Amino acid sequence: MTIDDFNFKDQKALIRVDFNVPINERFEVTDTNRIEAARPTIIKILEDGGSAVLMSHFGRPKGKFEPDMSLSHIVETVSEIIGVRVKFVGDCIGEKVAQAISELENGEILLLENLRFYAEEEAGDRAFAEKLSHWGDIYVNDAFGTAHRPHASTTVVASFFPGKKCFGYLLAKEIKAIDTVMKTGEKPVTAILGGAKVSSKIPIIENILGKIDHLIIGGGMTYTFVKALGGSVGDSICEPDQTDLALKILEKAKALGVQVHLPVDVVAADRFDNEAATRVLPVNAIEDGWQGLDAGPESLNNFREVILKSKTILWNGPVGVFEMPNFSKGTIAVGDFVAEATAKGAFSLVGGGDSVAAVKQFGFEEKVSYVSTGGGAMLESLEGRVLPGIAAILDA
Ligand code: AMP
Repeated sequence: MTIDDFNFKDQKALIRVDFNVPINERFEVTDTNRIEAARPTIIKILEDGGSAVLMSHFGRPKGKFEPDMSLSHIVETVSEIIGVRVKFVGDCIGEKVAQAISELENGEILLLENLRFYAEEEAGDRAFAEKLSHWGDIYVNDAFGTAHRPHASTTVVASFFPGKKCFGYLLAKEIKAIDTVMKTGEKPVTAILGGAKVSSKIPIIENILGKIDHLIIGGGMTYTFVKALGGSVGDSICEPDQTDLALKILEKAKALGVQVHLPVDVVAADRFDNEAATRVLPVNAIEDGWQGLDAGPESLNNFREVILKSKTILWNGPVGVFEMPNFSKGTIAVGDFVAEATAKGAFSLVGGGDSVAAVKQFGFEEKVSYVSTGGGAMLESLEGRVLPGIAAILDA
């Protein structure tokens, strides 16, 4: 059931959004992406002739009222972005809310107070979820960032809306992007996996190996693979206890016909510092006292060739220490290649963790097909897990 299957005329939509946005010390929203991302869903409901009741968490207040974490701080910003004056009520359950809901007219938006002022929210408490369910005729989940949490407002509340629940446009887009990479995307399918540690990416690798044609490995995880293959990695980040697993992954990839592309050269530094001395070294001959902090030029050429012939691309994790300008070139180059492939018609999804930050920082956001809005939720999806917030909508 999608949001387009519903007409919201004279209906109150109870929408779980993710308005957990960053704010500065003057309580100004410093990144409005998440609010903008919820706009299409809210507008559709208002244009149909219905009203919208928005609920979200904000920060980590640990089950009690914290003035700094009141959603009242973002009402102005939400009003500006949606283009409608948003009403606010200082609670998410109880009499005050009942009153505000009864006064809500078609075309209006009401924002409820931070759900996490109640410990029952994160506990997934059923009685609390039932109280929330009174605020709408149709439940819409548009909060991908919390879809991996079995909380009251993200999961449990859905059971009170049999036949009257759906994903919002944002959540639907996230699901479609994951499905494209995992199931429906045109071949060749390439996954670019970077980041610091192999251990944190193993569940993803295990899940995607059967679904991809090429696996590009970059970043800190490179060195565990190189060490497993008998190379010298010097002082590079490495997890010696994961080398057996790294070999097993390579064997499994071979058995499945997946081509694995490891860096062949690296930009090595004499210390973990932007101002360190650097040398380009073969990836398997890094001397002690030196550590690989970025992909080298020959590696990037190889990556380019693979990325440009791909029709479906998943990118998770930077290929170097992109936070330091002198070791960000590899990650920027990969961004360029993914953008180039996308311009030629490939589908590209960037998701889960630091690659999203890198893509935003270096201005690739508009040049890739989709940048996920959920870190943990995207990682769990890539691991092949069914997210509770998604399952709750799909349940009858
Ligand atoms: P992750 O959250 O697993 O995607 O890891 C991202 C982090 O990996 C970033 O903070 C990068 O700086 C770091 N990283 C990438 N390449 C390396 C490397 N060669 N050595 C150390 N850290 C790295």
